[in-house]
Amino acid sequence: MTEVGVRRVAAGWLLALLVALGLGLWLLVPWGTLPDPSDAELRRSFTGAEIGRGDRFAGQVRPPTYLSMLVGLGLLVGLTQTGRGLALLRRLAGRSERWWLQVPVAVLSVSAAGWLVTLPLGIWRWRVLRVWELSTQTFGAWLFDGLKALGITAGLTAAGLLLLVWLARRMPRWWFVPASLGSVVLTFAMSFAYPVLFEPVFNSFTPMQAGPLRTDLLTLAERDGVQVDDVLVADASRRTTSLNAYVSGFGATRRIVVYDNLLAEATPEEVEVIVAHELGHADGNDVLTGSTLSALGGATGVTLLWWVLGSGWVRRRGVEGAGDPMAATVVLGLAAVSALLLAPVTSGISRQVEARADRHALELSRQPDTVISMQQRFAIHNISDLTPPRWSYLAFATHPSSVQRIDLARRWAQENE
Ligand SMILES: [Zn+2]
Repeated sequence: MTEVGVRRVAAGWLLALLVALGLGLWLLVPWGTLPDPSDAELRRSFTGAEIGRGDRFAGQVRPPTYLSMLVGLGLLVGLTQTGRGLALLRRLAGRSERWWLQVPVAVLSVSAAGWLVTLPLGIWRWRVLRVWELSTQTFGAWLFDGLKALGITAGLTAAGLLLLVWLARRMPRWWFVPASLGSVVLTFAMSFAYPVLFEPVFNSFTPMQAGPLRTDLLTLAERDGVQVDDVLVADASRRTTSLNAYVSGFGATRRIVVYDNLLAEATPEEVEVIVAHELGHADGNDVLTGSTLSALGGATGVTLLWWVLGSGWVRRRGVEGAGDPMAATVVLGLAAVSALLLAPVTSGISRQVEARADRHALELSRQPDTVISMQQRFAIHNISDLTPPRWSYLAFATHPSSVQRIDLARRWAQENE
């Protein structure tokens, strides 16, 4: 096929993926009725002192968090999107013919440099969490956690990018097809295997002890028509004092996990409405929905890369197309910038999905008063920022604010009186 023919097929492929992504967003995301954060509800649910305490904590934790993000991204862009940075990485990775060694060396160097440069900001943030008694980790334990996370993320990223460069060298014109299909398979495989392969690296999980609460929770799941064999307890208390629960995996790896802190601090009624929220995620197949949207987004991104990596913009930076080992680092930088630019979209989707799980919890438990008092108590315990700046809420809040969740419960109570 001629060059123009290949381009036409690639354009058709991209269009098909964009349509699938658009359909996925339209059909799978519960676009709905998440109430706007209301000032009246804020004043009604929290005292001035509680709001002030959340403000002060957020004011201390926000600078290291966002500075770290900025510094990390700045370094990444400097190293991977400029001719000078890419030349430096190429010297570091060596000019040998062993491209399969250059890719991981370059990717691991960039990741390690990013980690080192942001380390002081990370320590600053850890200190703030210690002072406010949200973190229970010693410096050594915190550092070890960070190194484990760095190793896993950088290792998986290097493996994925190695695969991309390999495909581009094998099929210089057509790699966008196997690469985008491969990214779909990898996304599902990762979200299926994550709870079994990677969560145990950070926490240990034990089945919840037999007793009235466990029986109640399993009865709740049965009433909900959700298949749950067990509720797992994570030893979160060795890291944090905050109260939480979550669902991960799908199919055979799906699990409902509650923090040990939660069982120690919350009343059985509170644990029940929290598990009812997690059952909402299970019932809505939210992990699978998230994986499907990520897979379609990833495949679209990979196809867009086919154009970018074949363009003069990349050649002018000394990178000879997608088969050049340095293309892997270009992709690394572009992925980080895209993730930041798309954060308002992905966070917005997450908030809608969370609001649906909240509504599910209300329908299942029919305990709006417990939901409201639990949200109030947890917001105070976790020192939630009750008045986040609009930009930070829109870009990075993956959950509705406590005030919105209380508002949602009050509305539900009014509608169902
Ligand atoms: Zn949730």
